[in-house]
Amino acid sequence: MTNETLRVLPLGGLGEIGKNMMVVEYGGRILVVDTGLMFPTPDQLGIDLVLPDFTYLRERAEDIEAIVLTHGHEDHVGALPFVLRELDRAPVVYGGPLTAAMVRSKLDEHRLKDVQIEDLLAGQTFESGPFSVEMVKMAHSIPDAFAVAITTELGTMLVTGDYKFDQTPVDGVPADVSRLAELGREGLLLLCGDSTNADRAGMSLSESAVGPRLREVFGRCEGRIVVTCFASNIHRVQQVVDAAGALGRRVALIGRSMRKNTNIGKMLGHIDIPDGMLVGPKEIEDFPDHKLVVISTGSQGEPLSALRRMAHGDHPNVDLHDGDTVIFSATPIPGNERAVNETIDRIYRLGAHVYTTADVPVHASGHGYAEELKLMINLTKPRYVMPVHGDHKRLRLHGELAEAVGVPPKSIFRGENGLPLEITKSGAGWAEREQAGLIFVDGMEVGDIGDVALRDRRMLSADGIFIVVATISEQDGRSVVPPEIIFRGVPFAEESDSFVDELREAVEGSLARSAKDQITEIDLLQDHLHDDIAEFVYQRLKRRPMILPVVVEV
Ligand SMILES: [Zn+2]
Ligand SMILES: [Zn+2]
Repeated sequence: MTNETLRVLPLGGLGEIGKNMMVVEYGGRILVVDTGLMFPTPDQLGIDLVLPDFTYLRERAEDIEAIVLTHGHEDHVGALPFVLRELDRAPVVYGGPLTAAMVRSKLDEHRLKDVQIEDLLAGQTFESGPFSVEMVKMAHSIPDAFAVAITTELGTMLVTGDYKFDQTPVDGVPADVSRLAELGREGLLLLCGDSTNADRAGMSLSESAVGPRLREVFGRCEGRIVVTCFASNIHRVQQVVDAAGALGRRVALIGRSMRKNTNIGKMLGHIDIPDGMLVGPKEIEDFPDHKLVVISTGSQGEPLSALRRMAHGDHPNVDLHDGDTVIFSATPIPGNERAVNETIDRIYRLGAHVYTTADVPVHASGHGYAEELKLMINLTKPRYVMPVHGDHKRLRLHGELAEAVGVPPKSIFRGENGLPLEITKSGAGWAEREQAGLIFVDGMEVGDIGDVALRDRRMLSADGIFIVVATISEQDGRSVVPPEIIFRGVPFAEESDSFVDELREAVEGSLARSAKDQITEIDLLQDHLHDDIAEFVYQRLKRRPMILPVVVEV
């Protein structure tokens, strides 16, 4: 790699939805775009968060000039506290005012007080080492969403962040199309574009279209209305507030992040709630149903969210009942469908009615559809294209869209996490693979919890656990009292009593065999015992519970 090489290394967000992180390198210096996280899938038991493996950043900590955040969504900023904690010297963090405010409160929670965070407005630029960086206004489902144009001696690359081309955004400021076109005219070297909705034909719905539809649906509701959406979707919250106001209803905000984000949004002027409009959580139950709209977190069926608690009849302030209507103003992120469906069904059980986006169009995606992705490419005319932010299918579809608008196939790079793209004056190509992958966060601990703990949890949840306590004689290793057998969560055959007796015999048999072979080492004894019990249990129950043998010598 010569000094005149631009190196673009995705550490997350390719081949998956979430944990977006991109390392841009020039002249040995590094600029990081986004530090996102991902929420765990149901088979990652007991894991709270999933982060990109950022070993590469830890090893190159000295070379990092800055971290730039495109917008405030968790899949773009969520890993920041964990990354900063691991770097000896925290680089400066840049982002839009809302992004900066959200990140600041996040870092406070992690007691990271000394990080320098710089607010940038749309169109603002900054210099950092060999990089000159410009924030370009985009539209998305959160205010202050920017594309990042990064210029080095070699040329300019653009990381779009998440975007749509909304012609009538709620804040009235559409994406800076003319600046994008200008970048194209100046000659864009590389475009790294959002692929989330590459599989959807046409153009996405404008966010402004959602408001009138909400009002329409509200008009049909006689009792209380609960709307659930992403807490960061401040423009959506605004539209719910407006629709409520138009029908003479007042609004209550439920869920910690809903109140927090709405407050930040109010402070920064992104949301306008008339005085006297808000009803406190404690007043909800005493307020007339037909005069109230509750805005709640939990649109993804998240386990501890306000809506999920309401659905389980377990929320301190909102008791869902007959006549209530719950409106899901969000679609489930892939992987969350089951939790959402379960929540919906629970709500029906309580007597309330549910509308989802399948029933009424009360949601607009924050990500551009196929025609918008083509428009981005036509505007910016990049020499090379690397689709990002999508699973393999969407990365491929995004590549096909690029081809459709005339980008030569050899200039389209369908990448993977950990695979660096190197660009020089003479061309572009893949370089040697770097470490990339997942790390898990279990509570507040970060680490490679690794396969062992996950496998254990999977076993425990699927097949339960057997604990066998055997007491043997120190002299000859024979069993001196009947082994004790404890089991939990084992999906059990009905003849449980005889099964336990037989298992006890199997334990004694195993101990006798070890005694005969003169095995006295406790660890080895326990290993043998483990294997014999596992074999027996599998033969009988066709299950593989966790087996914990404990051998005590007397
Ligand atoms: Zn986003
Ligand atoms: Zn995203």
